[in-house]
Amino acid sequence: MPLLTLIEDDEGIRRSLRGALEGLGYAVRSASNALEALQIMTAEAGDVVVLDLGLPDLDGVELLKMLRGISSVPIIVATARDDESEIVRSLDLGADDYVVKPFSAAQLDARIRALLRRAAPGERTAPITIGKLVIDPAARQATLEGRRLGLTRKEFDLLHHLASRRGAVVTRRELLSEVWRQPLGGDDRSVDVHLSWLRRKLGETAAQPRYLRVLRGVGAQLVDPDAEAK
Ligand code: CA
Repeated sequence: MPLLTLIEDDEGIRRSLRGALEGLGYAVRSASNALEALQIMTAEAGDVVVLDLGLPDLDGVELLKMLRGISSVPIIVATARDDESEIVRSLDLGADDYVVKPFSAAQLDARIRALLRRAAPGERTAPITIGKLVIDPAARQATLEGRRLGLTRKEFDLLHHLASRRGAVVTRRELLSEVWRQPLGGDDRSVDVHLSWLRRKLGETAAQPRYLRVLRGVGAQLVDPDAEAK
């Protein structure tokens, strides 16, 4: 049973999410402020964290930075506003995914399961399977439903990086650093263009994404569309 830490100051939300998530098979512990969250997280990091960015005693983004200092546990931030700059800042500081309030426990559960299924770091040469998509780093080939995708070198590297962080929203800054080897930043449009090429090779469109979700101005996320639909 995965141990989930819910950091949320709104008692109503905390109580209803806790009940719903326990019903979905999680062990849930909660904190209503940053200080309490740091205390329980220092004692045991658990398996996944849901962090409300609007906390009474400390900016949630600051708490995120502190949590990243003590643990690499997957963190999903919950934000009240669809604020792109806040979301990008959280992802760049190490959040793995985000949800915009109001969100359902079912939606959160799908995001958490995607993050928990992610391949352990270190298995960098093992093939990664996401639904009917198989990415084989040793052969530098990807197949979808058994068909070769015919990716360029950069498209493959991009797909492989997204696959190794499956379920997580990967920012354009991270892609520039990890795939383009430009840690100091570079041309975001190059990332956007390659993402759209990759999307086309996966047979998807912006209007009807399946595996590849491109979040405008933020980054991209690789998911198993069939797992999300369950
Ligand atoms: Ca709040």
